[in-house]
Amino acid sequence: MYEFFNRINEIKPGIRLDAGQPDIPVREEIIEETVASLRRGETGYISSSGMGELRERIAEAEGVSPEEVIVGPGSKILIAAEIAMADRIAVIAPYWSAYVLIARQFGKEVEVIRTRLEEEWRPRLEELNADLLILNYPNNPTGRVLSRSELKEILELAEETGAKVLSDEIYAELSFMDFTPVRELYENAVTVKGFSKLYSMTGFRLGYAIADREEIARIRHFMESTVTCVPPFVQRAGIKALELRDELVDDVRKEYMRRAKLASRILRGLYFREPEGAFYVFLRVPGDGLAFAERLLDKGVAVFPGVAFGPYRDFIRISLTGSHLEEGLKTIREEVQCAL
Ligand code: PLP
Repeated sequence: MYEFFNRINEIKPGIRLDAGQPDIPVREEIIEETVASLRRGETGYISSSGMGELRERIAEAEGVSPEEVIVGPGSKILIAAEIAMADRIAVIAPYWSAYVLIARQFGKEVEVIRTRLEEEWRPRLEELNADLLILNYPNNPTGRVLSRSELKEILELAEETGAKVLSDEIYAELSFMDFTPVRELYENAVTVKGFSKLYSMTGFRLGYAIADREEIARIRHFMESTVTCVPPFVQRAGIKALELRDELVDDVRKEYMRRAKLASRILRGLYFREPEGAFYVFLRVPGDGLAFAERLLDKGVAVFPGVAFGPYRDFIRISLTGSHLEEGLKTIREEVQCAL
């Protein structure tokens, strides 16, 4: 698979529907604030928990107190902190591959709970043998959002077994239907979110976690001993982004909703579940997904093979964040029809 990823970078295809890299530009005000902060000389080490002002703004937006918030350089490292502190991890497949890669990095056992397209990607947990269950809704790669009652069902089992739940809600604002934050239903929850998707700030590396104070202290310890802090000028950019939140959130969500509808229209009749959030389509293709993705790459369209997300050999993931989306989707459709 790594060869395939290398080939994408070598070939530089014209249509990039592979990575979850938003193409909506970062707002100018955010860039200006970053530069202004640098010019003011905000270039040194600061607190490992994050700037007070940023934590206050996050707390306000999330309806929690600033002591229940910690910022980190991207949500991925906060996820890593949680995985490092756990013994056995459970993930629901298909999953964002980083969970498993991080767990391997720390030598942790991973239980994979498989879901199926035929069952509308509905998780059916019969038992749970982990002390950390990772949930990710809206989901990368399926675009699935769980209803409150579906969530409750899962959380009941977590409660019974005493598992902590790590809820990766990085796509929460990009949900096209009612979204319930896990922490509303479950006390022993850690929520991670970030600025990469809604604000397109992937390269800024800025995310945050919400949890009770004791858990925040443990994450802080991890941050102090590893990354030290998020650069102050990046945190200033985050404060500015939150100031713009109300102004841009509906437009960004509507834009991705429009793209999801476009994809559903072009791919109608093929096997996938229409996304309810985030910006991906997880599509079943005839034959092997990696071979399919290679053929598409030869036609100038990059997508990820399903095996990057668990045991899904006959799937591909299409990211709706690239340019020439319509043309790319049509090429994918033709390729499926050709292979049938
Ligand atoms: N969580 C999920 C489910 C993602 O898809 C991604 C990025 O693709 C991230 C987290 C990473 O976010 P960050 O840039 O904040 O590390």
